[in-house]
Amino acid sequence: MPIDALAPYDDQNIFARILRGEIPNRTVYEDEWALAFHDINPQAPVHVLVIPKGAYVSWDDFTAKAPDEEVAGFIRAVGHVARELGLPATGYRLLANIGMHGHQEVPHLHVHIFGGRQMGLMLPR
Ligand code: AMP
Repeated sequence: MPIDALAPYDDQNIFARILRGEIPNRTVYEDEWALAFHDINPQAPVHVLVIPKGAYVSWDDFTAKAPDEEVAGFIRAVGHVARELGLPATGYRLLANIGMHGHQEVPHLHVHIFGGRQMGLMLPR
């Protein structure tokens, strides 16, 4: 079920538990601002999730509330991970689902990085 993006942060969500080390993950990259790990149900040859270390429900929550330094650190981490994965040469796709219409399922901001194949049209028709 998609989540309500305006709900308060739930610190029992699965990505919060990954950040606390309570649930294992296949880490790709970690720094002060972000953790990147392989999606458990990959939709492309490369499917990595990048999450901020701070407690933000969604892109909306993050961009409204996070300090500039945290926003910059997180966005730079997304770019860094894509470069480390060797994706810029062929191209890749970023996706952030937000709330009900975005079909966001995990209520901690995450940016999907998809790559390794032609992604096709932006949205299904
Ligand atoms: P979204 O619909 O944007 O909220 O996507 C949530 C994503 O989290 C899906 O692609 C899931 O496969 C992925 N996911 C859920 N649980 C885990 C987990 N424990 N480790 C890695 N990825 C997960």
